Amino acid sequence: MAIDAPSSAAAQPWSDRLRHSTIILIVAALALSVVVSLGELSVLHAVAVFLCIAVAALIPWRLHDAAASRDETRRINPVESAAVAAVVAGMPDPAVLLDRAGRVIHLNAAAAQLAPALRRNELAQFALRSPEIITALRESIATTEPRRATYLDHVPVDRWMELIITPVPVPTSFGGADKCMLMTFHDQTPLRRVEEMRADFVANASHELRTPLAALSGFIDTLQGQAKDDPKARERFLGIMHNQATRMARLIDDLLSLSRVELSAHVRPDTLVDLLPIIRQVADGLEPLARERQVEVEINLPDTPVMIAGDREELLRLFENLIENALKYGASGGRVIVSLTSDGTQEVRVMVRDFGPGIAPEHLPRLTERFYRVDVGDSRSQGGTGLGLSLVKHILNRHRGRLLIESVPRQGATFIACFPQVKTLTQS
Ligand code: ADP
Repeated sequence: MAIDAPSSAAAQPWSDRLRHSTIILIVAALALSVVVSLGELSVLHAVAVFLCIAVAALIPWRLHDAAASRDETRRINPVESAAVAAVVAGMPDPAVLLDRAGRVIHLNAAAAQLAPALRRNELAQFALRSPEIITALRESIATTEPRRATYLDHVPVDRWMELIITPVPVPTSFGGADKCMLMTFHDQTPLRRVEEMRADFVANASHELRTPLAALSGFIDTLQGQAKDDPKARERFLGIMHNQATRMARLIDDLLSLSRVELSAHVRPDTLVDLLPIIRQVADGLEPLARERQVEVEINLPDTPVMIAGDREELLRLFENLIENALKYGASGGRVIVSLTSDGTQEVRVMVRDFGPGIAPEHLPRLTERFYRVDVGDSRSQGGTGLGLSLVKHILNRHRGRLLIESVPRQGATFIACFPQVKTLTQS
Protein backbone atom coordinates (compact mmCIF):
# COMPACT_ATOMS: atom_id res chain seq x y z
CA MET A 1 0.00 0.00 0.00
CA ALA A 2 1.53 3.32 -1.01
CA ILE A 3 1.05 6.71 0.51
CA ASP A 4 -1.68 8.63 -1.39
CA ALA A 5 -0.43 10.16 -4.60
CA PRO A 6 -1.93 13.60 -5.25
CA SER A 7 -4.98 13.01 -7.48
CA SER A 8 -5.80 16.33 -9.10
CA ALA A 9 -6.43 17.64 -12.59
CA ALA A 10 -2.99 19.09 -12.52
CA ALA A 11 -1.68 15.58 -12.75
CA GLN A 12 -3.16 15.16 -16.29
CA PRO A 13 -0.23 15.27 -18.76
CA TRP A 14 0.07 18.27 -21.04
CA SER A 15 0.50 16.13 -24.18
CA ASP A 16 -2.96 14.57 -23.55
CA ARG A 17 -4.62 17.91 -23.12
CA LEU A 18 -2.88 19.28 -26.24
CA ARG A 19 -4.03 16.30 -28.30
CA HIS A 20 -7.67 16.68 -27.19
CA SER A 21 -7.74 20.41 -27.92
CA THR A 22 -6.02 19.94 -31.31
CA ILE A 23 -8.62 17.34 -32.35
CA ILE A 24 -11.46 19.69 -31.33
CA LEU A 25 -9.91 22.55 -33.31
CA ILE A 26 -9.25 20.41 -36.43
CA VAL A 27 -12.82 19.12 -36.43
CA ALA A 28 -14.12 22.69 -35.95
CA ALA A 29 -11.90 24.00 -38.79
CA LEU A 30 -13.06 21.22 -41.15
CA ALA A 31 -16.73 21.81 -40.33
CA LEU A 32 -16.37 25.57 -40.80
CA SER A 33 -14.54 25.20 -44.13
CA VAL A 34 -17.33 22.92 -45.43
CA VAL A 35 -19.96 25.48 -44.36
CA VAL A 36 -17.92 28.35 -45.99
CA SER A 37 -17.45 26.35 -49.22
CA LEU A 38 -21.22 25.77 -49.36
CA GLY A 39 -21.59 29.57 -49.13
CA GLU A 40 -23.60 29.40 -45.94
CA LEU A 41 -21.06 31.50 -43.95
CA SER A 42 -18.64 34.31 -44.79
CA VAL A 43 -14.93 33.69 -44.18
CA LEU A 44 -14.95 36.47 -41.58
CA HIS A 45 -17.79 34.86 -39.64
CA ALA A 46 -16.13 31.47 -39.90
CA VAL A 47 -12.87 32.86 -38.41
CA ALA A 48 -14.85 34.46 -35.56
CA VAL A 49 -16.65 31.17 -34.82
CA PHE A 50 -13.32 29.29 -34.97
CA LEU A 51 -11.76 31.69 -32.43
CA CYS A 52 -14.73 31.22 -30.08
CA ILE A 53 -14.33 27.45 -30.28
CA ALA A 54 -10.56 27.74 -29.65
CA VAL A 55 -11.14 29.87 -26.55
CA ALA A 56 -13.79 27.43 -25.32
CA ALA A 57 -11.35 24.56 -25.76
CA LEU A 58 -8.54 26.32 -23.87
CA ILE A 59 -10.42 27.90 -20.91
CA PRO A 60 -10.97 24.57 -19.05
CA TRP A 61 -7.18 24.21 -18.91
CA ARG A 62 -6.91 27.38 -16.90
CA LEU A 63 -9.83 26.38 -14.66
CA HIS A 64 -8.24 23.01 -14.02
CA ASP A 65 -4.92 24.61 -13.28
CA ALA A 66 -6.47 27.05 -10.79
CA ALA A 67 -8.34 24.23 -9.02
CA ALA A 68 -5.23 22.10 -8.98
CA SER A 69 -3.04 24.81 -7.58
CA ARG A 70 -5.65 25.58 -4.90
CA ASP A 71 -5.83 21.90 -4.01
CA GLU A 72 -2.04 21.75 -3.89
CA THR A 73 -1.90 24.72 -1.51
CA ARG A 74 -4.58 23.14 0.68
CA ARG A 75 -2.72 19.86 0.77
CA ILE A 76 0.75 21.17 1.53
CA ASN A 77 -0.19 23.84 3.96
CA PRO A 78 -3.75 23.26 5.16
CA VAL A 79 -3.38 24.99 8.47
CA GLU A 80 -2.55 28.58 8.99
CA SER A 81 -3.85 28.45 12.48
CA ALA A 82 -1.27 29.36 15.11
CA ALA A 83 -3.49 27.64 17.66
CA VAL A 84 -2.89 24.21 16.10
CA ALA A 85 0.86 24.79 16.08
CA ALA A 86 0.69 25.86 19.72
CA VAL A 87 -1.26 22.72 20.71
CA VAL A 88 1.28 20.47 18.98
CA ALA A 89 4.19 22.41 20.49
CA GLY A 90 2.63 22.17 23.95
CA MET A 91 2.22 18.40 23.96
CA PRO A 92 4.60 16.79 26.47
CA ASP A 93 5.33 13.73 24.31
CA PRO A 94 6.81 13.87 20.80
CA ALA A 95 3.98 14.93 18.46
CA VAL A 96 3.85 15.46 14.69
CA LEU A 97 0.90 16.75 12.65
CA LEU A 98 0.80 15.44 9.08
CA ASP A 99 -1.37 16.25 6.09
CA ARG A 100 -3.25 13.53 4.22
CA ALA A 101 -0.25 12.78 2.04
CA GLY A 102 1.96 12.23 5.08
CA ARG A 103 3.78 15.55 4.88
CA VAL A 104 4.85 17.23 8.13
CA ILE A 105 2.79 20.33 8.97
CA HIS A 106 3.88 20.89 12.57
CA LEU A 107 6.18 19.08 14.98
CA ASN A 108 7.17 19.84 18.54
CA ALA A 109 10.66 19.99 20.05
CA ALA A 110 10.35 16.51 21.58
CA ALA A 111 9.57 15.07 18.12
CA ALA A 112 12.52 16.92 16.57
CA GLN A 113 14.74 15.38 19.25
CA LEU A 114 13.28 11.91 18.70
CA ALA A 115 13.63 12.05 14.89
CA PRO A 116 16.03 14.87 13.92
CA ALA A 117 15.47 14.13 10.21
CA LEU A 118 11.82 15.28 10.36
CA ARG A 119 11.29 18.48 8.33
CA ARG A 120 8.23 20.60 7.76
CA ASN A 121 6.60 20.10 4.34
CA GLU A 122 8.53 16.87 3.81
CA LEU A 123 7.18 13.32 3.90
CA ALA A 124 7.46 11.89 7.41
CA GLN A 125 8.19 8.41 6.10
CA PHE A 126 11.59 9.53 4.85
CA ALA A 127 12.59 10.61 8.35
CA LEU A 128 11.02 7.74 10.30
CA ARG A 129 12.78 4.62 9.18
CA SER A 130 11.15 2.03 11.42
CA PRO A 131 9.03 -0.36 9.28
CA GLU A 132 6.37 -0.50 12.01
CA ILE A 133 5.90 3.28 11.88
CA ILE A 134 5.76 3.38 8.09
CA THR A 135 3.20 0.57 7.91
CA ALA A 136 1.00 2.19 10.55
CA LEU A 137 1.28 5.56 8.82
CA ARG A 138 0.35 4.18 5.41
CA GLU A 139 -2.61 2.26 6.80
CA SER A 140 -3.88 5.25 8.74
CA ILE A 141 -3.56 7.52 5.70
CA ALA A 142 -5.30 5.01 3.44
CA THR A 143 -8.16 4.27 5.83
CA THR A 144 -8.27 7.53 7.85
CA GLU A 145 -8.58 5.30 10.91
CA PRO A 146 -6.47 5.46 14.08
CA ARG A 147 -3.47 3.11 14.24
CA ARG A 148 -1.04 2.00 16.97
CA ALA A 149 2.41 0.50 16.61
CA THR A 150 5.10 -0.55 19.06
CA TYR A 151 8.73 -0.59 18.05
CA LEU A 152 12.20 -0.72 19.53
CA ASP A 153 14.18 2.47 19.08
CA HIS A 154 17.95 1.95 19.26
CA VAL A 155 19.20 5.54 19.25
CA PRO A 156 20.51 6.99 21.56
CA VAL A 157 19.69 3.99 23.83
CA ASP A 158 17.35 1.03 23.45
CA ARG A 159 13.80 2.22 24.17
CA TRP A 160 10.39 0.65 23.63
CA MET A 161 8.23 3.27 21.94
CA GLU A 162 4.52 3.27 21.21
CA LEU A 163 3.22 5.29 18.28
CA ILE A 164 -0.42 6.39 18.13
CA ILE A 165 -1.77 7.89 14.92
CA THR A 166 -5.09 9.69 15.27
CA PRO A 167 -6.94 11.33 12.35
CA VAL A 168 -7.91 14.86 13.40
CA PRO A 169 -10.03 17.42 11.52
CA VAL A 170 -7.98 20.62 11.30
CA PRO A 171 -9.40 23.96 10.03
CA THR A 172 -8.00 25.04 6.68
CA SER A 173 -7.23 28.51 5.39
CA PHE A 174 -10.19 28.14 2.97
CA GLY A 175 -12.76 27.33 5.65
CA GLY A 176 -14.01 23.85 6.48
CA ALA A 177 -11.77 21.16 7.88
CA ASP A 178 -9.07 18.92 6.48
CA LYS A 179 -8.42 15.38 7.76
CA CYS A 180 -4.88 15.47 9.16
CA MET A 181 -2.96 12.82 11.09
CA LEU A 182 -1.62 13.45 14.57
CA MET A 183 1.28 11.15 15.45
CA THR A 184 2.23 10.93 19.13
CA PHE A 185 5.06 8.83 20.55
CA HIS A 186 5.15 7.41 24.08
CA ASP A 187 8.15 5.88 25.84
CA GLN A 188 6.98 2.50 27.15
CA THR A 189 10.39 1.44 28.51
CA PRO A 190 9.68 2.07 32.25
CA LEU A 191 6.38 0.18 31.98
CA ARG A 192 8.05 -2.76 30.24
CA ARG A 193 10.79 -2.82 32.88
CA VAL A 194 8.22 -2.99 35.67
CA GLU A 195 6.45 -5.82 33.83
CA GLU A 196 9.74 -7.70 33.43
CA MET A 197 10.56 -7.17 37.11
CA ARG A 198 7.14 -8.45 38.13
CA ALA A 199 7.55 -11.53 35.95
CA ASP A 200 11.06 -12.13 37.39
CA PHE A 201 9.72 -11.69 40.89
CA VAL A 202 6.94 -14.24 40.42
CA ALA A 203 9.40 -16.70 38.83
CA ASN A 204 11.91 -16.23 41.67
CA ALA A 205 9.30 -16.46 44.43
CA SER A 206 7.78 -19.64 43.04
CA HIS A 207 11.24 -21.17 42.53
CA GLU A 208 12.21 -20.33 46.13
CA LEU A 209 9.00 -21.90 47.44
CA ARG A 210 9.15 -24.93 45.19
CA THR A 211 12.59 -26.03 46.42
CA PRO A 212 11.66 -26.60 50.10
CA LEU A 213 8.26 -27.92 49.04
CA ALA A 214 9.93 -30.56 46.84
CA ALA A 215 12.22 -31.51 49.76
CA LEU A 216 9.23 -31.83 52.10
CA SER A 217 7.22 -34.07 49.79
CA GLY A 218 10.37 -36.18 49.10
CA PHE A 219 10.88 -36.80 52.81
CA ILE A 220 7.19 -37.55 53.35
CA ASP A 221 7.47 -40.26 50.64
CA THR A 222 10.62 -41.65 52.29
CA LEU A 223 9.00 -41.69 55.72
CA GLN A 224 6.00 -43.54 54.31
CA GLY A 225 8.31 -45.98 52.50
CA GLN A 226 11.80 -47.24 53.42
CA ALA A 227 12.21 -45.19 56.59
CA LYS A 228 8.84 -46.24 58.00
CA ASP A 229 10.33 -48.54 60.63
CA ASP A 230 13.65 -46.76 61.12
CA PRO A 231 13.32 -44.46 64.17
CA LYS A 232 16.83 -42.96 63.69
CA ALA A 233 16.24 -41.99 60.04
CA ARG A 234 12.77 -40.73 60.93
CA GLU A 235 14.22 -38.43 63.59
CA ARG A 236 16.84 -37.05 61.17
CA PHE A 237 14.36 -36.54 58.34
CA LEU A 238 11.87 -34.82 60.64
CA GLY A 239 14.64 -32.39 61.62
CA ILE A 240 15.35 -31.56 57.95
CA MET A 241 11.62 -31.22 57.26
CA HIS A 242 11.32 -28.81 60.14
CA ASN A 243 14.13 -26.66 58.67
CA GLN A 244 12.51 -26.65 55.23
CA ALA A 245 9.13 -25.73 56.69
CA THR A 246 10.77 -22.88 58.66
CA ARG A 247 12.44 -21.67 55.46
CA MET A 248 9.11 -21.62 53.65
CA ALA A 249 7.46 -19.80 56.53
CA ARG A 250 10.26 -17.19 56.53
CA LEU A 251 9.96 -16.68 52.82
CA ILE A 252 6.19 -16.22 52.98
CA ASP A 253 6.64 -13.90 55.93
CA ASP A 254 9.21 -11.78 54.04
CA LEU A 255 7.05 -11.70 50.90
CA LEU A 256 4.03 -10.53 52.88
CA SER A 257 6.08 -7.88 54.72
CA LEU A 258 7.51 -6.65 51.44
CA SER A 259 4.11 -6.34 49.80
CA ARG A 260 2.67 -4.61 52.91
CA VAL A 261 5.50 -2.05 52.93
CA GLU A 262 5.16 -1.51 49.18
CA LEU A 263 1.42 -0.96 49.47
CA SER A 264 1.90 1.77 52.05
CA ALA A 265 5.07 3.21 50.45
CA HIS A 266 3.36 6.52 49.68
CA VAL A 267 2.09 7.00 53.25
CA ARG A 268 4.87 8.37 55.42
CA PRO A 269 4.67 7.17 59.05
CA ASP A 270 3.68 10.02 61.36
CA THR A 271 3.96 8.47 64.83
CA LEU A 272 6.95 9.61 66.87
CA VAL A 273 9.01 6.66 68.12
CA ASP A 274 12.21 6.41 70.14
CA LEU A 275 14.83 4.39 68.26
CA LEU A 276 16.82 3.34 71.34
CA PRO A 277 14.38 0.77 72.85
CA ILE A 278 13.74 -0.63 69.36
CA ILE A 279 17.45 -1.26 68.73
CA ARG A 280 17.91 -2.72 72.24
CA GLN A 281 14.92 -5.06 71.78
CA VAL A 282 16.36 -6.37 68.48
CA ALA A 283 19.83 -6.84 69.97
CA ASP A 284 18.37 -8.72 72.96
CA GLY A 285 16.35 -10.95 70.66
CA LEU A 286 19.45 -11.82 68.63
CA GLU A 287 21.62 -12.58 71.63
CA PRO A 288 21.18 -16.37 71.28
CA LEU A 289 22.33 -16.17 67.64
CA ALA A 290 25.34 -14.02 68.62
CA ARG A 291 26.25 -16.54 71.32
CA GLU A 292 25.85 -19.44 68.90
CA ARG A 293 28.11 -17.71 66.34
CA GLN A 294 30.51 -16.52 69.03
CA VAL A 295 30.18 -12.90 68.06
CA GLU A 296 30.55 -10.08 70.54
CA VAL A 297 27.92 -7.39 69.93
CA GLU A 298 28.86 -3.86 70.99
CA ILE A 299 25.98 -1.38 71.29
CA ASN A 300 26.84 2.34 71.36
CA LEU A 301 23.71 4.40 71.92
CA PRO A 302 23.22 7.91 73.30
CA ASP A 303 21.68 8.39 76.74
CA THR A 304 18.78 10.57 75.65
CA PRO A 305 15.89 9.34 73.48
CA VAL A 306 16.26 9.75 69.72
CA MET A 307 12.85 10.36 68.21
CA ILE A 308 11.94 9.86 64.58
CA ALA A 309 8.61 9.61 62.77
CA GLY A 310 8.36 5.89 62.20
CA ASP A 311 6.51 2.60 62.21
CA ARG A 312 7.69 0.54 65.21
CA GLU A 313 7.04 -2.88 63.67
CA GLU A 314 8.82 -1.98 60.44
CA LEU A 315 11.80 -0.53 62.31
CA LEU A 316 12.10 -3.73 64.37
CA ARG A 317 12.17 -5.68 61.10
CA LEU A 318 14.75 -3.33 59.58
CA PHE A 319 17.27 -3.54 62.45
CA GLU A 320 16.66 -7.28 62.83
CA ASN A 321 17.64 -7.82 59.19
CA LEU A 322 20.79 -5.68 59.41
CA ILE A 323 22.07 -7.09 62.72
CA GLU A 324 21.15 -10.68 61.82
CA ASN A 325 23.03 -10.35 58.50
CA ALA A 326 26.09 -9.03 60.35
CA LEU A 327 25.92 -11.99 62.74
CA LYS A 328 25.36 -14.52 59.94
CA TYR A 329 27.70 -13.32 57.20
CA GLY A 330 30.26 -11.46 59.32
CA ALA A 331 30.57 -14.04 62.10
CA SER A 332 34.19 -14.79 61.21
CA GLY A 333 35.12 -11.25 62.37
CA GLY A 334 33.92 -12.14 65.88
CA ARG A 335 32.65 -8.62 66.51
CA VAL A 336 29.65 -6.48 65.50
CA ILE A 337 29.19 -2.81 66.40
CA VAL A 338 25.75 -1.18 66.44
CA SER A 339 25.86 2.58 66.95
CA LEU A 340 23.56 5.56 66.57
CA THR A 341 24.67 9.07 65.72
CA SER A 342 22.57 12.16 65.33
CA ASP A 343 23.90 15.48 64.11
CA GLY A 344 20.82 17.19 65.55
CA THR A 345 19.80 18.89 62.31
CA GLN A 346 19.79 16.63 59.28
CA GLU A 347 19.83 12.89 59.85
CA VAL A 348 19.78 10.16 62.45
CA ARG A 349 22.16 7.36 61.43
CA VAL A 350 22.11 3.82 62.73
CA MET A 351 25.26 1.94 61.78
CA VAL A 352 25.71 -1.83 61.86
CA ARG A 353 29.33 -2.81 61.33
CA ASP A 354 30.91 -6.25 61.16
CA PHE A 355 34.48 -7.43 60.62
CA GLY A 356 33.73 -10.44 58.44
CA PRO A 357 34.68 -11.18 54.82
CA GLY A 358 32.96 -8.03 53.49
CA ILE A 359 31.31 -7.72 50.07
CA ALA A 360 33.06 -7.28 46.70
CA PRO A 361 32.32 -3.84 45.15
CA GLU A 362 30.56 -5.28 42.06
CA HIS A 363 27.78 -6.70 44.30
CA LEU A 364 27.10 -3.54 46.28
CA PRO A 365 24.72 -1.79 43.80
CA ARG A 366 22.56 -4.93 43.50
CA LEU A 367 22.34 -6.02 47.14
CA THR A 368 18.91 -4.47 47.71
CA GLU A 369 17.33 -6.19 44.66
CA ARG A 370 14.82 -8.87 45.56
CA PHE A 371 16.37 -12.34 45.73
CA TYR A 372 19.85 -11.01 45.00
CA ARG A 373 22.50 -12.88 46.95
CA VAL A 374 26.27 -12.81 46.72
CA ASP A 375 26.42 -16.55 47.35
CA VAL A 376 23.08 -18.36 47.02
CA GLY A 377 24.34 -21.52 48.77
CA ASP A 378 25.75 -19.54 51.69
CA SER A 379 22.53 -17.54 52.06
CA ARG A 380 20.35 -20.69 51.97
CA SER A 381 22.52 -22.49 54.49
CA GLN A 382 22.08 -19.47 56.78
CA GLY A 383 18.30 -19.62 56.33
CA GLY A 384 18.31 -16.48 54.13
CA THR A 385 15.55 -15.65 51.65
CA GLY A 386 17.35 -12.97 49.63
CA LEU A 387 14.61 -10.49 50.55
CA GLY A 388 16.07 -8.99 53.73
CA LEU A 389 17.93 -6.00 52.30
CA SER A 390 15.15 -5.34 49.79
CA LEU A 391 12.77 -5.08 52.73
CA VAL A 392 15.25 -2.78 54.52
CA LYS A 393 15.39 -0.50 51.48
CA HIS A 394 11.59 -0.34 51.14
CA ILE A 395 11.11 0.40 54.85
CA LEU A 396 13.68 3.19 54.63
CA ASN A 397 12.04 4.59 51.49
CA ARG A 398 8.72 4.72 53.32
CA HIS A 399 10.43 6.57 56.16
CA ARG A 400 11.96 8.92 53.56
CA GLY A 401 15.37 7.66 54.62
CA ARG A 402 18.20 5.96 52.74
CA LEU A 403 20.56 3.02 53.09
CA LEU A 404 24.33 3.39 52.73
CA ILE A 405 26.51 0.31 52.27
CA GLU A 406 30.27 0.45 52.63
CA SER A 407 32.54 -2.53 52.46
CA VAL A 408 36.18 -3.40 52.03
CA PRO A 409 36.66 -7.08 51.17
CA ARG A 410 38.24 -9.04 54.05
CA GLN A 411 37.73 -6.10 56.40
CA GLY A 412 33.99 -6.30 56.93
CA ALA A 413 30.83 -4.47 55.89
CA THR A 414 28.99 -1.43 57.24
CA PHE A 415 25.28 -0.85 56.70
CA ILE A 416 24.00 2.62 57.64
CA ALA A 417 20.27 3.35 57.91
CA CYS A 418 19.69 7.12 57.67
CA PHE A 419 16.41 8.70 58.84
CA PRO A 420 15.35 12.34 58.55
CA GLN A 421 15.42 14.23 61.86
CA VAL A 422 12.02 14.99 63.32
CA LYS A 423 12.70 18.73 63.05
CA THR A 424 13.41 18.47 59.30
CA LEU A 425 10.37 16.26 58.92
CA THR A 426 7.90 18.70 60.49
CA GLN A 427 9.34 21.60 58.49
CA SER A 428 9.00 19.84 55.15
P1 ADP B 1 19.51 -13.05 52.78
O1 ADP B 1 18.15 -13.45 53.16
O2 ADP B 1 20.14 -13.94 51.76
O3 ADP B 1 20.39 -12.73 53.92
P2 ADP B 1 19.63 -10.22 52.23
O4 ADP B 1 18.84 -9.41 51.26
O5 ADP B 1 19.50 -9.88 53.67
O6 ADP B 1 19.27 -11.72 51.92
O7 ADP B 1 21.15 -10.10 51.81
C1 ADP B 1 21.50 -10.27 50.48
C2 ADP B 1 22.92 -10.79 50.37
O8 ADP B 1 23.83 -9.78 50.79
C3 ADP B 1 23.20 -11.96 51.27
O9 ADP B 1 22.83 -13.16 50.64
C4 ADP B 1 24.69 -11.87 51.46
O10 ADP B 1 25.33 -12.50 50.38
C5 ADP B 1 24.98 -10.37 51.38
N1 ADP B 1 25.17 -9.76 52.70
C6 ADP B 1 24.23 -9.11 53.44
N2 ADP B 1 24.77 -8.64 54.59
C7 ADP B 1 26.07 -8.98 54.57
C8 ADP B 1 27.19 -8.78 55.47
N3 ADP B 1 27.04 -8.13 56.62
N4 ADP B 1 28.38 -9.27 55.09
C9 ADP B 1 28.55 -9.93 53.93
N5 ADP B 1 27.56 -10.17 53.05
C10 ADP B 1 26.34 -9.70 53.36
